[in-house]
Amino acid sequence: MDLSLSDFELEFRDEVRQFLKDKLTPQLREAGRKRASYIQEFETSMAWQKILHAQGWAAPSWPVEYGGPGWTAMQWFIFENECARENTPILTPLSLRMLGPMLIGKGSQAQKDRFLPRILSGEEFWCQGYSEPGAGSDLASLQTRAVADGDDYIVNGAKIWTTFAHHADWMFSLVRTSTEGKPQQGISFLLIDMASPGIEIRPIVNIAGEHEFNQVTFTDLRVPRKNLVGAENNGWDVAKYLLEFERFRVASPEARRLLKNVRDFVDHEATYCAAPIIPELSRKLAAAECLIDALEISEMRNVAVLTAGQNPGPEASLIMARQADIIQQVTELGAEASGYYGAVFQPDAVDVGKNAPAIGPDQSLTLMPAYLSYRMRTIGGGTAEIQRNIVAKTVLRL
Ligand SMILES: Cc1cc2nc3c(=O)[nH]c(=O)nc-3n(C[C@H](O)[C@H](O)[C@H](O)COP(=O)(O)OP(=O)(O)OC[C@H]3O[C@@H](n4cnc5c(N)ncnc54)[C@H](O)[C@@H]3O)c2cc1C
Repeated sequence: MDLSLSDFELEFRDEVRQFLKDKLTPQLREAGRKRASYIQEFETSMAWQKILHAQGWAAPSWPVEYGGPGWTAMQWFIFENECARENTPILTPLSLRMLGPMLIGKGSQAQKDRFLPRILSGEEFWCQGYSEPGAGSDLASLQTRAVADGDDYIVNGAKIWTTFAHHADWMFSLVRTSTEGKPQQGISFLLIDMASPGIEIRPIVNIAGEHEFNQVTFTDLRVPRKNLVGAENNGWDVAKYLLEFERFRVASPEARRLLKNVRDFVDHEATYCAAPIIPELSRKLAAAECLIDALEISEMRNVAVLTAGQNPGPEASLIMARQADIIQQVTELGAEASGYYGAVFQPDAVDVGKNAPAIGPDQSLTLMPAYLSYRMRTIGGGTAEIQRNIVAKTVLRL
């Protein structure tokens, strides 16, 4: 297979490089470089989204008629790789990569007209209300109740691990509208205005000391029935369709970026501290690079499916499980290489606004926080075990 870039693709790569040179401000670049979390700090992510939106590049997977750039799979890959190489901030996936494609496929015309332009521009930001204190992997057991009352539903219950709920204008959520039949048959998909009375948001601080997710409770919350996506009690199909988009992502550029961070630290130690590079570590770094190369090829195949206008399908779970393994291997290498520097907890040093001096070399700063943050890759969006169950059942038909 010839993977060298065509003249058209080389021209496009130059266009992306020029765009990044012109528009990626030093502050955004620094925030991107110091990102140790799997998710970008909210304000930075939204600032970068506005810049991309002005260029028409905020949503590579969306069809042109809804504001997508109309790229080929290769253009999308070039764009992702150039962004990772330049340490741009990353966009938050909830609105752009998850809800948007679902609404394009399953929303009513009124919902598309109302929500898609504001998602694209970043004017409105969404969070995901799927998980509950008693319903994670077994999502169909969710208990949040929605009872019809005139033109509204009245919703009572609780959601948990809701990423960025404290920033969100809207939530896409799963609620129980029937207890008849199989649990999956009584679920509906609702769009909830987070400014409505009856919503309480409580923070949950994660292992890295950051406030990214929350518990959200609903008490007699009124949601207009026009905010139902699909038919009542048919929300499970909508939810699964959206999950395909959540699970489908291009991760090899991110894996390369994380691996480069490890290499930069190892090179720094060898150059300035005369620390010998342990052969076993060199071997592991090279092996990780090979895994990322193989992952990239698999991702390209899936990107080609998406740019041809199809949905990712259950194969997205296969790629997601593989990405999680590889990214965790890379961040484990970072923790291993950083040695005692990894023991220092210094969140202020990676906060661009704070200008706090680092203890130890700058190159070591993100290695341990990245190790801690990327533990989530085998939990969020469905655990590694659940992805493998899906692959076994729906791809391998076991
Ligand atoms: C960083 C992060 C962000 C998140 N953001 C959101 C969000 O914005 N919105 C949202 O709704 N949710 C969010 N989640 C929640 C996430 O979807 C759930 O944590 C996940 O689905 C697992 O559910 P659980 O935590 O209840 O674990 P459980 O379901 O209790 O699982 C516990 C363990 O049992 C295993 N297990 C369970 N069932 C099976 C089975 N059938 N076969 C084999 N093993 C099994 C699991 O793999 C896991 O190891 C987030 C999670 C994380 C970590």
